[in-house]
Amino acid sequence: MTDDDTIARFAKEHNWHPDFLALLVESNWCCVYCGRSFMADHHLYFAFTHDHLVPSSKDGSKDGQHNLVAACDSCNKLKGKWNPLEANPGLTTKAELLKVCREYVSARLLDREARVGKARAAAEALGLWLAP
Ligand SMILES: [Zn+2]
Repeated sequence: MTDDDTIARFAKEHNWHPDFLALLVESNWCCVYCGRSFMADHHLYFAFTHDHLVPSSKDGSKDGQHNLVAACDSCNKLKGKWNPLEANPGLTTKAELLKVCREYVSARLLDREARVGKARAAAEALGLWLAP
């Protein structure tokens, strides 16, 4: 168990806002959507963002930490301003909101991967890219 002093000292020494550090600890330093670790390398470490499960533009900001999660910038952009409450107005807990947001982002990630796969195959077929 980590005490508040340890968290505060780490936040100060490593230049993290305590609220964002709390999100990272809560997710074990992983993006809640793709699962990649922010500790894997410098690209991911500095790709940390905080995502509002209910977009702040949809009044999600009023819930504070209960509405925030640790997300990599790529997943945060994929989720965009999608509001889980529009299709699921009965959701109330962070776990419920996170579940449907994760499903939404996962579907968009699969779509993106398919698009990259098609581009990769086309580029290779045309000799524009040499597969390693
Ligand atoms: Zn991610």
